[in-house]
Amino acid sequence: MKILIGKSAGFCGGVLNSVNRASTYLEQNKNVYCLGELVHNPQVIKDLENKGLKIINSLDEIDENSKVIIRAHGIPKETYDLAQKRKIELYDLTCPKVLKIHDDVKKYVNDDYFIVLIAHKTHPEVIGTISFCGENSIIVEDEEDIEKAVAKIRASQQKKVVVIAQTTFSMDLFDKMAEMLKKELQDYELVIDNTICNATEKRQKEIKELATKVDAMIIIGGKNSSNTKKLYDISKSICQNTYAIETVEDLNTNFNSYQTIGIMAGASTPQKSIDEVREFLEKYN
Ligand code: SF4
Repeated sequence: MKILIGKSAGFCGGVLNSVNRASTYLEQNKNVYCLGELVHNPQVIKDLENKGLKIINSLDEIDENSKVIIRAHGIPKETYDLAQKRKIELYDLTCPKVLKIHDDVKKYVNDDYFIVLIAHKTHPEVIGTISFCGENSIIVEDEEDIEKAVAKIRASQQKKVVVIAQTTFSMDLFDKMAEMLKKELQDYELVIDNTICNATEKRQKEIKELATKVDAMIIIGGKNSSNTKKLYDISKSICQNTYAIETVEDLNTNFNSYQTIGIMAGASTPQKSIDEVREFLEKYN
């Protein structure tokens, strides 16, 4: 059996930075909280919890002067304001690429743009980003939302529209929806600012190639990881035998009949999880 592992599988630069800095911070500080999960991977979270990290869902759960890590996905504007009001010390590990989007949308708001955010409505990064976009904005998740978005744009006073994206959104879907908006808004000044991060872009391009070369694909990542889900969807559309797992323990397929197997992993999947799957498959040889 031949095993092909995606070159971009595993931690992206943003996750690596957040996890390393959180670990160092935990060595130097006691009673450290994280607002939500630092990254979307249960194994990584368990490891950080063993180092002392406590996950909370709201700042209301903790006392004034507590230390709180901000996760890689970022937080909404109101949460920054609340932390300041309650004198909570923030250690901001939002990925710089997400922070750049926050800065960019503030400029677009100042320049009187209507902002269309192509993204998953309930994802923490998106809840954070949209909070900086002001009232002249809308989240578009799928093609069905386009009509509603166009109606809201036309009802607003704005004459300029910018289309941005969640950093881990599907490149193909973004392009498709941006094209649809272009057609609908020909009388507007329209800027397409594709803010899908390059780590996501690279991974999505690689999985498209890898999935054509193998008999089966294994995608490793947290069940709640948006970018892992995208990798699965892309792979499945090319290779029917695509399996999504969180850890090697989820592998309950017999891989005997496959000659070549590909492994890909989401941006928050630790190397250990990838190695365990590779070792498991090597036993077939
Ligand atoms: S996927 Fe992109 S935006 Fe998200 S943490 Fe990684 S580098 Fe940052």
